[in-house]
Amino acid sequence: MAVPVRPFGQTAADLDVAFAAAAPDEAATALLAACTGCEATAVRGWTLARRLQALLAVRLADEPGARVPAVLRCTACGEAFGLEFELAQCVGEVEDGPMPWTAPDGQALALRLPTAADLQGWRQAAVRDERQLAATLLAPPVTALPEDWLAPLAEALAERDPCTALQVPAPCPACGQPHSADIDLEALLLADFAARQRRLLDDVATLARAFHWSEAQILELPAWRRAHYIARIESGLVA
Ligand SMILES: [Zn+2]
Repeated sequence: MAVPVRPFGQTAADLDVAFAAAAPDEAATALLAACTGCEATAVRGWTLARRLQALLAVRLADEPGARVPAVLRCTACGEAFGLEFELAQCVGEVEDGPMPWTAPDGQALALRLPTAADLQGWRQAAVRDERQLAATLLAPPVTALPEDWLAPLAEALAERDPCTALQVPAPCPACGQPHSADIDLEALLLADFAARQRRLLDDVATLARAFHWSEAQILELPAWRRAHYIARIESGLVA
């Protein structure tokens, strides 16, 4: 079940999300806690698939037709090029309970999708070995995960969670190579939210300069009233 969300980039709490300072998953946790009203610890326990869908819902809450630009590099000729795609096409149902998984040696196990709490735990324990990471997602626990389990495990995770790394057709405009591109949707969304936060800060600065209101006073205004005053300033009606 999806939690209700509000748009990001309109309230004082939205200025507390530290995009540059925090690890990306911590910035996403803070943003989702602010926009859903859920506790940060609860948000960390969501699977990455659920978090991504919630981030999408926040972005689409005030602009259902939102598009995001991505910059890609051609693997054939090395040329960088941009493309835009519609976020609504990435919205999907989240089925993120543990799933049955049959290991290459025939063992029947349960595989769960990773959560932000997993990412944090792996970072704190400095776990970098892929086999160790994968082993924490299996039940019952597997102590020495065989090397040949990694590829089928990665495949099973990608099948269950196809939108984390979004594949879009992206022919290279320079050489015509018809490849598709893996797009890191969470990183794109976070960059977009960071840009919204900068715009809110700019709006505060503009209004403070024109009307000598405090930051707190300006942030208490509903977004539509801030937009109205800024339009007045921009049209030269307020010096
Ligand atoms: Zn190319």
